Amino acid sequence: MQKLILIKYGELTTKKGNRNLFINKLNENIKKVIDAKIIKKRDRMYIITDDIDLVTKKLQKIFGLQGIVIAYQVNTNKEDIEKGILEILKDINFKTFKVETKRANKNFEIKSMEFNNVIGSLVLKNFNSKVDVHNPDITVHIEIREETYIYLNEIKGAGGYPVGIQGKGILMLSGGIDSPVAGYLALKRGIDIDCLYFDSPPHTSLEAKNKVIKLASILNEYSGNVRLLVVPFTKLQEEIYKKVPSEYNITILRRMMYRIATSINNKYQVVINGESIGQVASQTLTSIKVINSVTNFPIIRPVACLDKLEIIDIAKKIGTYEISILPFEDCCTIFVPKHPVINPKLEKCLEYEQFNYQELIDECIDNIEIITNFNNHYTDLL
Ligand code: ATP
Ligand code: MG
Repeated sequence: MQKLILIKYGELTTKKGNRNLFINKLNENIKKVIDAKIIKKRDRMYIITDDIDLVTKKLQKIFGLQGIVIAYQVNTNKEDIEKGILEILKDINFKTFKVETKRANKNFEIKSMEFNNVIGSLVLKNFNSKVDVHNPDITVHIEIREETYIYLNEIKGAGGYPVGIQGKGILMLSGGIDSPVAGYLALKRGIDIDCLYFDSPPHTSLEAKNKVIKLASILNEYSGNVRLLVVPFTKLQEEIYKKVPSEYNITILRRMMYRIATSINNKYQVVINGESIGQVASQTLTSIKVINSVTNFPIIRPVACLDKLEIIDIAKKIGTYEISILPFEDCCTIFVPKHPVINPKLEKCLEYEQFNYQELIDECIDNIEIITNFNNHYTDLL
């Protein structure tokens, strides 16, 4: 019996017009991380590989998949299906079971309900067991198509849309807990991302940068084409601390970050960040409004309305949490004023920005370092 992996598509099946686009993007994303034979069909994909365990593990990080199933393929005829089921069940421990047949191939003469009974009787006759339709130990799934697929379990896929289907965004990635989660949620909606890190050496350490590289590499595992853009931010940041009264430091700093993030490159369709409403002084609605007013470029904040504990739960699930909590300072935390303004005024910002920041911004953008191969970096922090 041929053993293979069968993939069930996610939400894309509801988008009828875009189906081909979705399937092709998904196929492309799978091919990028998996070296195996892939057969794509309208409503399923089949993957044939010698290393089912490894491939299954990798598939669980690819968005656009609803379910992953390890199935046995047999010829579509009653005898072969029965033989297959007896063969599969002989190594399994169970007391109760049910059978679920899905007959997509109407050339197969026995209707689903009737076939459930046929197979049910076969199992009862051969194994000491009972039928339990509500809470069975095992469910024998039979999908009758051109070939027939038999399986017992379905592994939950990552859901979402295939990464890239929604174009590309730029994620403001700090070493904190929130922004990697924001990046993950954006990827899940099908937005491919590059990450943007504002680096202020020597005020911020190499460890802090390595931490961000590691976070970017974790995000990259979720079927993206993630690159990390490192902005040399020191000069601009020092200038802000020289020219701007301390309670407005962070507000102006963030207005500069927004100016840079929204003007790097016109291939990005959106800026993504990890702001969460009310979490710190710069994330009150008044602050967000004043900071955001430097641009009319779209900015999304996937974790804006989540509680910190909800964000932490996701961070733990996706594997970024233990990196994020490593204790290296980032540029927003090094010169934090004692009393950052909670309700900043736009007029004040404009007044304090009377220095030649555009030149410094241009210099930042011109000197961005692009990291594409995360393995070349020392990221072994733990
Ligand atoms: P996080 O946990 O993501 O660091 P935070 O709660 O520490 O967020 P802030 O420091 O106010 O909040 O930053 C808010 C958002 O601004 C971050 O989520 C991130 O998107 C962006 N940001 C902050 N610092 C940087 C940085 N050095 N480089 C890139 N983006 C940054
Ligand atoms: Mg932070």
